[in-house]
Amino acid sequence: MKSYRKELVINTKERVELINITDQVETALAESGIKEGLCLVNAMHITASVFINDHERGLWQDYRNWLEKLAPHEPTSQYYHNLTGEDNGDAHLKRQIMGREVVVAVTGGKLDFGPWEQIFYGEFDGRRRKRVLIKIIGE
Ligand code: ZN
Repeated sequence: MKSYRKELVINTKERVELINITDQVETALAESGIKEGLCLVNAMHITASVFINDHERGLWQDYRNWLEKLAPHEPTSQYYHNLTGEDNGDAHLKRQIMGREVVVAVTGGKLDFGPWEQIFYGEFDGRRRKRVLIKIIGE
């Protein structure tokens, strides 16, 4: 069995951003040379997510509105976590609901997606260097 590991570096301009990373995962898969196996993609930070859904602008705005209703950034004083001196209590909760990682089947050297599926990085406390781990195993 072969295995391949790669880190993506992401540094967003905004505190909250959703970024399509499908092309970068496909590049990693091509580099791996693996044709049949599994591809794991996970955020390496506890205030960011990796998830799969549709590449559709309206949906991105719906996510942002929905997450902001569930866990508003302001007032930051509403979160016990922020008693530590941080201001990212909301970002931890947003990450939890959007998930840590995805696993995609690799078939015939391609990511074996369902219709419209794409891989996204969700940043909820950005403006700093963050990493995404890609691990591919198979043959
Ligand atoms: Zn924190």
